[in-house]
Amino acid sequence: MTPQKKLLNWYVLNQRELPWRNTRDPYVIWLSEVILQQTRVQQGLPYFEKFLAKFPTVFLLATAKEDEILKLWQGLGYYSRARNMHHTAKIVLNDYNGVFPNSYNGLIQLKGIGPYTAAAIASFSFNEQVAVLDGNVFRVLSRLFCQNEPINSSSGKRVFTELAQTFLNMKEPAHHNQAMMELGAIICTPTKPNCIECPLQNNCLANLLGQQTNYPIKEKKSVVKNRYFAYFHIEVNGYIAIYQRPAGDIWQNLFDLPLLELDESKTSAFWKLELFNKNWISKNDQLVLKFQRKHILTHRRIYADFYLITLKKRPILGFKEIWVKKSEVLQYGISRLLDHYFLQQHIK
Ligand code: SF4
Repeated sequence: MTPQKKLLNWYVLNQRELPWRNTRDPYVIWLSEVILQQTRVQQGLPYFEKFLAKFPTVFLLATAKEDEILKLWQGLGYYSRARNMHHTAKIVLNDYNGVFPNSYNGLIQLKGIGPYTAAAIASFSFNEQVAVLDGNVFRVLSRLFCQNEPINSSSGKRVFTELAQTFLNMKEPAHHNQAMMELGAIICTPTKPNCIECPLQNNCLANLLGQQTNYPIKEKKSVVKNRYFAYFHIEVNGYIAIYQRPAGDIWQNLFDLPLLELDESKTSAFWKLELFNKNWISKNDQLVLKFQRKHILTHRRIYADFYLITLKKRPILGFKEIWVKKSEVLQYGISRLLDHYFLQQHIK
């Protein structure tokens, strides 16, 4: 029996029931793929259900307000994905009459749809003979063939694209792709592959050589940068100052508390003088350090200090700030870091 056939038989018996597997609707498949990028299925599933319930068609997603989408996305991280998703929905609506192209070559023309998503939609919706290559498939292929090209290099991407296409089951491309992804998700896992239960154990070079955990090969990651944020929760008569983050930095268009950043952490005495010099506070106003948190993003480590300042009169902060009722602040799309802070302060 060919390895492709063994894989398919295993998939028939072992696949998890996931809602996007029961459809061929390209919109639903696209939505699931966007939500599941860099996200575990268990975490992404409730978001997929929320989005599909609220926006059952690409028309409704495209015509929604960005704030509404960011709010629904809250907690999932990587907010640029939500913004790109909205942008792509608008393109499908405006330039394609709300209908997704029905081939890989058509889909890849769409701004916001990369090779992975185009392959996923083309194969799952239209059964096109094109191999899908996500993190799980990279891992399975690299182990099956002991492939030494780093999966995160551009030459590695080329090599793996060819390898995946050669390994594709041409008779059942959609199921083959699903099966490869499923094998990587539940059997060929990053640290403890369950080779004993793997349908490809006798075809897998890494297993035969006992080198499973040496694969996949990765190039060294870029350096993680430390950032130090001092957040100011400024409250005046039950209202809080927030502002919308501009383009060109993390959390673009999300709402945030006013913050100042330096390349190291500072004391409350330092910030008191700083805010006094900026005319935000007067001599007798107090800064109370309420919360400290280390927050990790892909390429950044954020050290955040949150200060509460209660004032009688609204200062001019220069952030294009808006003043919102404390009880309504969570109606705005905010970062996960800010969400932690408000939760810690019992603001719900
Ligand atoms: S035999 Fe082990 S290492 Fe090889 S594909 Fe299967 S689970 Fe992965």
